[in-house]
Amino acid sequence: MSTVLLEVVTPDRLLLSHPVTFVVVRGGFGEIGILPRHAPLATTVQPGIVKVRMEEGEDYISVSGGFLEVRPDRITLLADAAETSATLDVERAQRAKQRAEERLAKRGEGIDIARAEAARARALRRLEMLELSNASGNVFEKVLSKSASQ
Ligand code: ATP
Repeated sequence: MSTVLLEVVTPDRLLLSHPVTFVVVRGGFGEIGILPRHAPLATTVQPGIVKVRMEEGEDYISVSGGFLEVRPDRITLLADAAETSATLDVERAQRAKQRAEERLAKRGEGIDIARAEAARARALRRLEMLELSNASGNVFEKVLSKSASQ
């Protein structure tokens, strides 16, 4: 099967570097599906959940926006923040969701609604990524632990 190297880089780490067969990202102009040997492309990335298909199966990454560069042999995603189920702190995301919801419930008492809504959206995105990843067998956890032990 033909593959392309996917690298996901955040300000503090290289989250992922792995050969993949298909990636779906929300680019600046809408959703884009990228196969190996895709024509060169550069675009902003919208906050969302990136779907990744690889020989080992399918898994998901939550991203808080960033920049995508596609070349025929490499896809580079520079993300402001990104998590897989292997790096997500579930309790932290649940706490962030609850904090945001408590703030939104107190509407009008000096609460910055837009900020609380954005925080809730980030937490919900992380938790949704986890559900999708759990349903598809947390493939990155296996892939990453294998590459770390090699
Ligand atoms: P919190 O309120 O819990 O800090 P946040 O939505 O404000 O969450 P961000 O500003 O989006 O956090 O991210 C800051 C950094 O923390 C990023 O590197 C991001 O990957 C990381 N991060 C945020 N939430 C989690 C989480 N639940 N698990 C792992 N890393 C997280």
